Amino acid sequence: MKIGFVGLGNMGGPMVHNLLKAGHALSVYDLNAAAVATAVAAGATQASSLRELVAGRDVIITMLPASAHVRAVYLGADGVLAHVAPGVTLIDSSTIDPDTVKQVAAAAAQHGNALVDAPVSGGTGGAQAGTLTFMVGASAAVFEQVKPVLAGMGKNIVHCGDTGTGQVAKICNNLLLGISMIGVAEAMSLGAALGIEPKVLAGIINTSTGRCWSSDSYNPFPGIVETAPASRGYSGGFGTDLMLKDLGLATEAAKQVKQPVLLGALAQQLYQLLSQHGSGGLDFSAIIGLYRKQAD
Ligand code: NAD
Repeated sequence: MKIGFVGLGNMGGPMVHNLLKAGHALSVYDLNAAAVATAVAAGATQASSLRELVAGRDVIITMLPASAHVRAVYLGADGVLAHVAPGVTLIDSSTIDPDTVKQVAAAAAQHGNALVDAPVSGGTGGAQAGTLTFMVGASAAVFEQVKPVLAGMGKNIVHCGDTGTGQVAKICNNLLLGISMIGVAEAMSLGAALGIEPKVLAGIINTSTGRCWSSDSYNPFPGIVETAPASRGYSGGFGTDLMLKDLGLATEAAKQVKQPVLLGALAQQLYQLLSQHGSGGLDFSAIIGLYRKQAD
């Protein structure tokens, strides 16, 4: 397939590599010249504008930081919708608010294009390995159409419902993840302060009812999980500021349906405090630093 890809960052860069490996022809666009050069070295073609990017493509995929970037790329005066041919399917894999998805999808529909929200989980490791989970909001027919393309970048391609529901799934999952990480940080810190060996405590939690992904695969206490950011100074992984953004999306979406998100709002404030302390670029599991005198 001929694919146009916009947003070659930590996630989009490796996703492009996997689409090339799957045999697709890629045209790419990003504001960052170094990211474009890396994709071109892997076999993609550089587009110097969005107009050039969309020309002759079957599918357009975007992987951008936040809602404002998605609006600019699709709805901007010289954006995707100004130039793309009717019938071309548009896939946005950025994590953004469901309302923006619906607005951009409505504008796309007027132009004769289906827009699919397909945010991902699995992080940069999943993007590199091609094992991402895609949470897809689309009609059943459009889902079947985009599934083979997404399969080139992920292993679980899940149809969540109509347009916008992919983002709903993503923000609800990350709401829970943000909260559960703080719970594990609190319990591990209390145990250590009361004198139990952290590895013993983690072993008990991970075979007991407190077990969750934050405790068994991504434990925030250093030295428990070799591959977790906690064991390498909280570098890499999923940034605190990105978690903060996702909790903001969840609490904003909750407001619209007057749904209480008590722990989510508290979690948001705790990550905000961490970010204010200058740790916004560290993995979100660095939240344990708020509980320990020294998170080594
Ligand atoms: P990133 O900041 O590394 O990459 C974003 C890219 O978009 C950059 O290369 C930037 O230059 C480009 N860009 C921004 N505005 C643009 C524009 N107007 N035109 C063209 N290019 C533009 O971000 P990322 O880590 O790749 O994340 C992308 C999305 O995926 C975010 O919404 C994030 O929340 C989500 N996500 C990230 C992770 C993760 O672990 N990093 C995991 C799951 C989901």
